[in-house]
Amino acid sequence: MSPVNANVTALPLPPAADWQAQARAARISTAALLAELGLEPTDFAAGVIDDPDFPISAPPHYRSLIRRGDPADPLLLQVLALGQEALPQPGRLTDPLEEVDYRAAPGVLRKYRSRALLIASGACAIHCRYCFRRHTDYGAAMLTRSGEAEALALIAGDAAIEEVILSGGDPLSLSDARLAGLVAAIAAIPHVTTLRLHSRTLMAIPDRVTPALVQLLSNTRLNVVLVTHSNHEREISADVAAALGQLRAAGVTLLNQSVLLRHVNDAATTIAAHCRRLFAAGVLPYYLHLTDPVEGTAHFDVDEARARTIEAELRGLLPGYLVPRIVREVPGEAAKTPLWALPI
Ligand code: SF4
Repeated sequence: MSPVNANVTALPLPPAADWQAQARAARISTAALLAELGLEPTDFAAGVIDDPDFPISAPPHYRSLIRRGDPADPLLLQVLALGQEALPQPGRLTDPLEEVDYRAAPGVLRKYRSRALLIASGACAIHCRYCFRRHTDYGAAMLTRSGEAEALALIAGDAAIEEVILSGGDPLSLSDARLAGLVAAIAAIPHVTTLRLHSRTLMAIPDRVTPALVQLLSNTRLNVVLVTHSNHEREISADVAAALGQLRAAGVTLLNQSVLLRHVNDAATTIAAHCRRLFAAGVLPYYLHLTDPVEGTAHFDVDEARARTIEAELRGLLPGYLVPRIVREVPGEAAKTPLWALPI
């Protein structure tokens, strides 16, 4: 491995552009990303790859937060396609949560009785190498305009559904106009009280918080919860914090979920710093997920024994309200399974 460049400098951001232009600028080849960061393929033990099925996607803002010359940078490791992804990984799955079994209507997953999840988009601003949906066939799974009436009818026909979750992909990859239409249609269903969006886009394109987005989330009768997906303190840049502040001022409840990732955030001090940074930005830590057995992602796994140690240390470092719940999603279970309830 070549020595890490001690003179770390931030990459210059391109001129201010609209968020959709930034999303289009996210696609970058492995070679171009390494060149941008002053790195070589030989800096990585198992090399790097180009995966046409799940190419690198990292918007300019996110890339500007990566330390130049540092092959171990925790932000880089979340977006760079390492050679480990292509190594044989026995026992790993393409649909580890068996989501195909929970499709209740076009674009609708029904895992839990009081909630319905819409796969609102198959697109993401950022391609997270650990993603549990990286092998999802969004052509079959995603909510389409033609399937929308059936999806909404399913929700309208079941009074047990109190909360609709917009997921993906990333729902904030949709245009404001498309989102506004969906939110209005959901708000027209009387028994739905809460709209939840899960998004990682804000960590990569804080400009996604447009005035139109703020307006549509603040004007709906629904309680709005935005669960940001962030894994490291350095993802909460000043621009990201400002964007989150706009949402908070608009009355949106902000929570964060992370994934416990080897070499990214698998230390209690790292997670504690992240939680403090989230709280300073008005976001409460919510879940810290153990990885799912996804094909191509084994190098991110943190075993449960290590997770238990981290959890104990976190309790000593943070007030209880800032300690995220470490959980595993087990297919068929009625809720996420907390780490303490998993068999040792
Ligand atoms: S933003 Fe979410 S759905 Fe998209 S690649 Fe990352 S983890 Fe997967």
